[in-house]
Amino acid sequence: MTDGPTYGFDTLQIHAGARPDPATGARQTPIYQSTAYVFRDAEHAAALFNLQEVGYIYSRLTNPTIAVLQERVATLEGGAGAVACSSGHAAQIMALFPLMTPSKNVVVSTRLYGGTVTQFSQTIKRFGWEAKFVDFDDLDAVKAAVDDDTRAVFCESIANPGGYITDLRTIADVADAAGLPLIVDNTSATPYLCRPIEHGATLVVHSLTKYLTGNGTVTGGVVVDSGTFDWSASDKFPSLSAPEPAYHGLRFHETFGALAFTFHGIAIGLRDLGMTLNPQAAHYTLMGIETLSLRMERHVENAEKIAAWLEGHKAVDYVTYAGLKSSPYFDRKKTVCPRGAGALFTVALKGGYDACVKFVDHLEIFSHVANLGDTRSLVIHSASTTHRQLTPEQQEAAGAAPNVVRLSIGTEDADDLIRDLDQALSAAG
Ligand SMILES: *Cc1c(COP(=O)(O)O)cnc(C)c1O
Repeated sequence: MTDGPTYGFDTLQIHAGARPDPATGARQTPIYQSTAYVFRDAEHAAALFNLQEVGYIYSRLTNPTIAVLQERVATLEGGAGAVACSSGHAAQIMALFPLMTPSKNVVVSTRLYGGTVTQFSQTIKRFGWEAKFVDFDDLDAVKAAVDDDTRAVFCESIANPGGYITDLRTIADVADAAGLPLIVDNTSATPYLCRPIEHGATLVVHSLTKYLTGNGTVTGGVVVDSGTFDWSASDKFPSLSAPEPAYHGLRFHETFGALAFTFHGIAIGLRDLGMTLNPQAAHYTLMGIETLSLRMERHVENAEKIAAWLEGHKAVDYVTYAGLKSSPYFDRKKTVCPRGAGALFTVALKGGYDACVKFVDHLEIFSHVANLGDTRSLVIHSASTTHRQLTPEQQEAAGAAPNVVRLSIGTEDADDLIRDLDQALSAAG
């Protein structure tokens, strides 16, 4: 099918990027389990290697199954193109790689997935990159953190795990005024609940591992480019605007326009960093995306019901879910993610650390795992697991204090989940 703006989300999540297989007529997208692709002739091979013609060379760079996934996610996010890669963390490096060089920095929100805090505060230093952590509700602090060496601004739409929602439009305006791209991690929201590009984001990154695949089978990531950023407006982004020696002096932005970032991500990023997704994983993710809206509706419906029930429970101190009227982010939810605040939130127990540990151990339907965005309901005590490497201040800022448990509400029967939570809260005392 041709993807027109007239198609709705439910149609696009099934059809965008896919057509019956031209070789066999196969209706479902085949898994092209092939490392290499035969060139028509020597001239064809040369044109592919010069980026004069788009096609398949080698599966570290491009693969037909992955191409369908890239187009599907780009369409759902309203972007110009996308590059899939091996994990959500790989996607974050793939997003920053064309923008950064040693001594440059990225201004990032303090409210981020725990692994991202570690990646940004520790690992990227080895590349000579720096992350400046700022409270994104303090606009003056965000503006003050931006300096001549800043190359990007990074946040999550709905921040995992604290139920925090970023005022994307305001942050995008700050990035715009400084001539910088805004990168939004949209993993917790998915494009069904939030489309960051409509709020001014330049790039959107995802962990495909979570809701997009949806059933805990795959590790994958993707970077979607809006195609709207002018990489040549300043000399800050030479990877995209200046001649590229590895391709005979080709300038990506001048040559590929709105697809500059996407082509760079494939022709340089995947080629040289090698963080490639495999076609089998792309297949599972495509299967998952076909039901994304149906699952997200149920995830949200269950999360709203369960968060409200927990908030009224005597053992519970507070619940941080932006879908609750008590949340300071309830109003922001209406503009940033009007279909719902996702299905991930934290619960603080009056009994503190000990009660949290007992509660987690007594749950039966909820699985105690370091994952989220599964059809199964999941629970984790962040302070003793995913956020263990962080300082107490970082834990607090990330919404992962010792008295707090994170729930990822699945698509099971909400009343069964409530009964399970009720018995575990009683057991926790
Ligand atoms: C899981 C997650 C990541 C990292 O993704 P992986 O696929 O595990 O590498 C990044 N951001 C958020 C919000 C996540 O939930």
